[in-house]
Amino acid sequence: MNNQKTVLIVEDEKNIVDILRFNLQREGYQTLEAYDGEAGLELAAGANPDLILLDVMLPKRNGFDVCKALRAQGSSVPVIILTAREEESDKVLGLEIGADDYITKPFSMRELIARVGANIRRTAMTAPAASAAASTAMPVAGDLSINTDSHQVFRSGKAIDLTQREYELLTFLASHPNKVYSRIALMEQVWNYGYVGDDVRTVDVTVRRLREKIETDPASPVYILTRRGAGYYFAV
Ligand code: CA
Repeated sequence: MNNQKTVLIVEDEKNIVDILRFNLQREGYQTLEAYDGEAGLELAAGANPDLILLDVMLPKRNGFDVCKALRAQGSSVPVIILTAREEESDKVLGLEIGADDYITKPFSMRELIARVGANIRRTAMTAPAASAAASTAMPVAGDLSINTDSHQVFRSGKAIDLTQREYELLTFLASHPNKVYSRIALMEQVWNYGYVGDDVRTVDVTVRRLREKIETDPASPVYILTRRGAGYYFAV
């Protein structure tokens, strides 16, 4: 059985591709490379990689476009956006369009390798079961129920389409009802990051997206609540 994971690198700067390839292969990953957005999208669809490192500024199609197109095709492959800009809006946009993570250039190779590993492990752990029915889902609170076998969430018996990260954040908070977690604690527990830096904004964006999907009125949530200055908790 071949357990080797494949990372697709979509980046137009050859020296960055070279150093990524070298380090990823040294860590035991297979690598694929694309030097523009169109080629990246084709390889992503054709070669079924386990993770994509996606630069933003690319010829032909930029990284945001590529990520959007992938998600529109129904792909759930983990995507880490490589952004050269420190702009907060870039980071938030990347997450809004369905990226799992972002790393700002210049990045530490150690951190990048750690994030690649964390994102691939997370996907492997949550591989969805073949089938499930709302009738076997555990009620959690109100009209919300979670089937942890199939990794599906239901509201009033109707399945809700969550990303893996949204699912994991919800199940983590719901399994510790009324306990408040700081954003840093959530980064560590749900995102598997030892190093957090200033990336806690990721948690806010994910909570906001989750609320839009599970709450009747996302502006007045009843499930995932904010304890100002402390963090988030699942209210029961
Ligand atoms: Ca570039």
